[in-house]
Amino acid sequence: MATIAPQEFDLVIAGATVVDGSGAPGFVADVGIADGRIAAVGALPTAGRERLNAAGRVLAPGFIDVHTHDDRALLTPGAMDAKLSQGVTTVVTGNCGLSLAPGAVRGAIPPPLDLIATPEWLRFPRFADYLQAIDAEGAAVNAVCLVGHLSLRANTMDQLERTATPAECDAMQRLLADALDAGAWGLSTGTFYPPARHASTDEIVAVGEPLRAHGALYATHMRNEAEKVLDALDETFEIGRRLGVRVLISHHKLAGVANHGRSVETLKRIAAAMEKQPVSIDCYPYNASSTVLRPEFVARASSVLVSWSTTMPQHAGRALADIAREMGCSDEQAAERLMPAGAIYFMMDEADVRRILAFPKTMVGSDGMPHDEHPHPRLWGTFPRVLGHYAREEKLFSLELAVHKMSGLTAQELGLPGRGLIAPGHAADLVMFDPATVGDRATFADPRALSAGIDRVWVNGRTAFADGAAQDVHAGRVLRR
Ligand SMILES: [Zn+2]
Repeated sequence: MATIAPQEFDLVIAGATVVDGSGAPGFVADVGIADGRIAAVGALPTAGRERLNAAGRVLAPGFIDVHTHDDRALLTPGAMDAKLSQGVTTVVTGNCGLSLAPGAVRGAIPPPLDLIATPEWLRFPRFADYLQAIDAEGAAVNAVCLVGHLSLRANTMDQLERTATPAECDAMQRLLADALDAGAWGLSTGTFYPPARHASTDEIVAVGEPLRAHGALYATHMRNEAEKVLDALDETFEIGRRLGVRVLISHHKLAGVANHGRSVETLKRIAAAMEKQPVSIDCYPYNASSTVLRPEFVARASSVLVSWSTTMPQHAGRALADIAREMGCSDEQAAERLMPAGAIYFMMDEADVRRILAFPKTMVGSDGMPHDEHPHPRLWGTFPRVLGHYAREEKLFSLELAVHKMSGLTAQELGLPGRGLIAPGHAADLVMFDPATVGDRATFADPRALSAGIDRVWVNGRTAFADGAAQDVHAGRVLRR
């Protein structure tokens, strides 16, 4: 195990319980860091320029947030504190069909693209411009960037309520190819949402063609997560087979009381597909979802919280039912008046959340909404919640497996070289935490409460979070395919 390098380390983290991200049992060791990389793991008598006593603490690979909407947050000062404070050192952006680039959007910004985009932020005509801006300004964490299918549609089509023509598919294909050449990691879709719902399977396969040559990723917020979830899974697998690429089922969930318990069926279907083709899956550790507020989404939830509203911002953080009562109208009518707006929907079954989270191949992604006035607590709490609530308190799985689902497994599924493990040669993306106290504090009432037990976070070898505060070091970089 010990590889004692002769050089003087920049830092030796001494005596931590190393949970290395592979899922293997933790072990006590020193970890030496030099030039932003892990140089050695073992008994390291060398002092290094700095020696940090980490006895009683766990040292894990920095977490990889596989599902984010941090496209704009990466370029917004302070906006990544939510992630750094949880031990996240890499985020995957551009999910659910939504990316800031390419930003030559025709006409008004179609919801849900407004979850991340404002007119002044659509300033990166090419995907390469966006990636260059991150590298020029320096992000708080590393970024793996997907291209959003709705964004491609909004760049190409004058009218979104129909299937794209062959010429429009060609134009989207060229934009995607351009983005992949610049280092984008893949394509995401959100056919669940009205403006992308009109895209046929054939449209997605046509647009996604450049993924094949790049061996890039196809991620999807599927067309249906309720009654027709099995059809949606089959469509996802079909797209992956036709393009010859890995598919990622984003934030897998079963929406609505009628579908509670059906993760037994869906996971069986997913496991069977995994035998035949590359399939990945992620989820967030909560039984409430969050996205744009739409009247047609309201009935499926047992309750709805407003997370932001452009027309009536004073209602952010309030229950839709209370607002509707004051307005003297139905919940759906109130939603209509609050739009454009965002909401949190309580509509999942805790047993499904646990079953999906515990499924061996499930990675953890926050799906946090960084620009919401009153965000879902997953933005600030996801990763410590998996460690504290689900691993330590509920014993859903071991600490080692919890870390694996948030680091090593994710790097492996994404094909991210040199990340996600504590091993010599890997990037020094690290988190040190107290296993006895680590946990989420963010709640639906107080969604920005700092998590407990996260002591220190390093991004590419530099301290990016310490003593309860993010450090302004901009140590992250774009990870290009
Ligand atoms: Zn989504």
